[in-house]
Amino acid sequence: MNGGFVTSLDRLVSAAGGLTLERDCPLSRLTSIGTGGVARLLVKAEKVNALCELVKILEPPFFIMGSGTNLLLSDRPFEGTVVRLGGALGRIRQAGEVLSAGAAASLGRLVHRAIEQDFAGFEELSGVPGSVGGAAAMNAGAHSVALGDLVEKLVMVDLSGARRVFSHSELTPGYRSSLAPVPGVITSLSFRRGVKRGNPLVQRRRARQLSEGRKLKHPWRARTFGSTFKNPPGMIAARLIDQAGLKGTVIGGARVSPVHANFIENHNGAASLDILELIKLVRDRVRRESGVTLEPEVRLVGFTAGELGELASCAVNVIEKKTTERLKT
Ligand SMILES: Cc1cc2nc3c(=O)[nH]c(=O)nc-3n(C[C@H](O)[C@H](O)[C@H](O)COP(=O)(O)OP(=O)(O)OC[C@H]3O[C@@H](n4cnc5c(N)ncnc54)[C@H](O)[C@@H]3O)c2cc1C
Repeated sequence: MNGGFVTSLDRLVSAAGGLTLERDCPLSRLTSIGTGGVARLLVKAEKVNALCELVKILEPPFFIMGSGTNLLLSDRPFEGTVVRLGGALGRIRQAGEVLSAGAAASLGRLVHRAIEQDFAGFEELSGVPGSVGGAAAMNAGAHSVALGDLVEKLVMVDLSGARRVFSHSELTPGYRSSLAPVPGVITSLSFRRGVKRGNPLVQRRRARQLSEGRKLKHPWRARTFGSTFKNPPGMIAARLIDQAGLKGTVIGGARVSPVHANFIENHNGAASLDILELIKLVRDRVRRESGVTLEPEVRLVGFTAGELGELASCAVNVIEKKTTERLKT
């Protein structure tokens, strides 16, 4: 890592309020799957201005981490900077018809608040873990609703360190790909109470049903990152994996969940490499059995091209150079 950058970072952290720096931080304690190596530098930004100053000096490689519920990080040290958000960037506020949430807020807290305040549609996202920023970067969704359907405005810091605001029509919603039209750090989202108002009683009931349904269908006691693969158009990945006879398949400490075939569990002290090997095995077998090539939904970070094999084309997540072009996500 460039010594000049580390000195500038140290200086910025002591001069600017709202930034904290940790060295050699074990990322395994920050991911839901419970694996990952150490981050040489982990910076937490708690204010937008401080984040802008940080991004201005930030040298690649770096990546942005939310609550770590959709990440498979290499076991090796990440020789760069991990950026996380917290503090004031985790606030949820309402002003009249507009509800805004900082990217560090939990999606669950936003869903709860939105239902209480008659915002329709949020109940469908009930039970999806993670942060608001991560949900925007993934266009997280469940049933027939994705977060991008509900967002009115997205605020972010682009890779030059400038604050940018995008309205609904400028967003780039896709299936589990970022809503942000340019690369950078999403800092907040806002939502407007629609013409179609929700009914909190009905919404609360629906939210409860969905959360209970998840407990029945998902291995919710196990350490996982949710769905491993995206559903191919018109098909269900879990069904294809199940039909290939892969439920319960084990590599090292990783196992295809016996409860839900599209979930991989950290069953017994798995390393990330065990999980990556299992992902590749599942992909190969499903292709052999059904002719369908599954694409990972989980974001793969820090693996070598050799480790990734043909998954290399799906794994662009770390920012290796500062560019204003949209990265493949
Ligand atoms: C048990 C379980 C169930 C799940 N069910 C669902 C489901 O039903 N539907 C669904 O869509 N997902 C589901 N997930 C996956 C996961 O919860 C979502 O993808 C979630 O939105 C990820 O949020 P996060 O904060 O954990 O992001 P992370 O996992 O930390 O990061 C995910 C991606 O977002 C990027 N990112 C994070 N924050 C920011 C930011 N502020 N600015 C820019 N980029 C950012 C990261 O760089 C990374 O590329 C499930 C996961 C688990 C463990």
